[in-house]
Order: sequence, then C-alpha cells, then structure tokens
Amino acid sequence: MNKAVLIVLLIAALLSPALAKTAPKESSHKSTTQVESKTSKDTQKEKSKEKQKDKQKEKQTDKQKKSKASKSTKSSKKSSKKSSGKIAKDDESPSDSTKKVSIKSDDPKAFTKALLYEKQGVEVEFVDATKKSRKSRKNGEKKPTKTETVGEYFDFSTMLIPITHEARLGSPYGIRDHRLHRGVDIQVEKGEPMVAAYPGEVIVSKYNQGGYGHYVLVQHENGLQTLYGHLAERTVKVGDQVYPGDIVGLAGNTGKSSGAHLHFEIRYGDVNIDPTTVVDFPHWQLKPGVEKYSKKKAIQAHRKIQSKLKIENVYIVKKGDTVADVAAFFYISEDAVRRINKLGKDQPLKVGMKLKGCM
Ligand SMILES: [Zn+2]
Repeated sequence: MNKAVLIVLLIAALLSPALAKTAPKESSHKSTTQVESKTSKDTQKEKSKEKQKDKQKEKQTDKQKKSKASKSTKSSKKSSKKSSGKIAKDDESPSDSTKKVSIKSDDPKAFTKALLYEKQGVEVEFVDATKKSRKSRKNGEKKPTKTETVGEYFDFSTMLIPITHEARLGSPYGIRDHRLHRGVDIQVEKGEPMVAAYPGEVIVSKYNQGGYGHYVLVQHENGLQTLYGHLAERTVKVGDQVYPGDIVGLAGNTGKSSGAHLHFEIRYGDVNIDPTTVVDFPHWQLKPGVEKYSKKKAIQAHRKIQSKLKIENVYIVKKGDTVADVAAFFYISEDAVRRINKLGKDQPLKVGMKLKGCM
C-alpha cells in the first residue's frame, strides 16, 4: 500500500461524516453512524477493494432505508390524511365505491355539496370541523377565514347563495313605492329551505306583521349581515350559531308579501348592498371579481340611492289629507307614518307638512 492511497483514504475518512451530514434529513442520523463505523473499519483493514464493496453495500442499504423511510412517511401522510383530511379527498371524488362522503360542517359549500351528492345517490355525513380548525390555528397555519374582510374589501367569494337552485328575481333592489327596497325578492316555492350565506350568529328571529313577516337576521364575522324575510317558518333562534348552508327558515309569504318569495338583504351597518352586484341569481352563481368587493364603492352606491330617496321620500300634506292617505302613498301602515315622522298618536296633519315614508 503506497502513501498516496493512504492519504486518499484518510481524506475520504475525514470528509465522509461531513458529507453524510448533508444527506437528506430522514436518514442523516443513521447514515452518519454507519459511515463512522465503516471508516474505522477501513482504516484498520486498509483495503480499498473492500472499501468499495462496503461503499456499495452501504449505498444499497442506504437506498433501502431511504426508500423505506420515504415509504413510511408517505404512508403516514396518507394515514393522517385519512384520519384528519378524509373529507378533502372525498369531497372531490364522491364516486367512491362506498357511496358515502363526509363534509366538514364549516365547509362554505357544505349544503350545496350535500344536495348534489344526494342527487348522485351518495350518502352524506357532516363532520364537526371546529376542533380541527382551532388546532391548525394554534399550529400557526392560520388561513384567513375567507369571510374576513380584507382591508377595504369584502370577500364574497365564499358566500353561499341562500337558495338552493336557479331562480328568477321578482322585485329588484332599489327605490320602490317611494321607499328603498333594501333587498331582492327571489322567486322560490313555499316551504323551500333558505340557507345561511356565511358563518355567523342569529341576532334577530321574529315576526313583523306589516313588513318582513317571519324573518331572520344573521350577523357574520366579516361585519356583514344578511336578512331572510317573508319566511313561512323560522328554524333558528336568537343566539344560534349558523354555518353556511344551515337552514334558517322555510320560504313563505308572511308579512307584507303577495306570493311566496325570499326577501334577501345584505347589510353592512347602515349600508345596504344590492345582492345582484354579488350574485347572478338566474344562473345561481357568484359574479366574477366578488372576492375583492370594494367597501368604498358599496358605501358610495348606498349614499347615491339615499340622496335619490330623499327627493322621492317626501309627501307634502294637502288640504283634507289624513294619515291613512300618507300611509297609502308610501305603502306603509299608519303607525309607521306616525313613527317615522314622530307624530303623536292623535296629532293632526297640517297642510304643507313634509312627511317621510322611511327613515
Ligand atoms: Zn322584498
């Protein structure tokens, strides 16, 4: 054995632990110890041929270990997917031989998916995802809960359309009968389920005879509120937490309504948002660009309609007018006329008085 070979071997021995450290994480620990034991062997035997053999062996075992390791991580990933993320996979492939899928209860499209699965004859199981999402937030994987408003914008991309099929619109949003029709009237059948558009808390669930009839108002995490009016039946009460797709009531014809329909409003504080700027109801889909819906534009549009309303929302009392006449003009009750205009119970009208039909 000449000196040159020895030097080469020594260098190799010195370098190999360092090289081993740069090996992939999964096997770095094991391969380092292997390399160390091997190099001491080599220096003892000082046989390059054997070393080459050893190296080959080591390479092979390393490969095997690596493939084993990667296999095991793959399978563990798979199994963890199965246990925690089964839904994600099953969501996409309902045509499983088991014919049963799980849907996370906080999935914004849960209800829609359930409906579609049912049509396909697939059994649907709702699973509570609150625990998991809390956990993942703890782990720092906090994904913005899409319902949050991002700065100056609303994200309507995860809004669930509150009806379950394509539907024509009756009365649109806007000024009607000298008052602001604050939402849209959607033509649906009596008894149809009406669903929550976003996660939130029910803040009103009551009956209003002269107006909304049975109606539900939900406060959402993103600052928006949605209102569902003229319901035949309310299925939630104040304080209830709702998820998108949860049924808030059944469509009806209660309150000031002629024929079954859903009166649907989107509110942001005092600002009303025309639902048709977000949803294409006849095609039952969201409009493009709604993930970045300008708050400023929504407020401006509301102000514009308010100033128009100011002009239209005035009744100048003529000789002989009664509160009933004013009420008929505005299509509201006499009580409403008195309340809105702060008139006493028996306070008479004076000619020239300017009365409003809404606040
Ligand atoms: Zn309406």
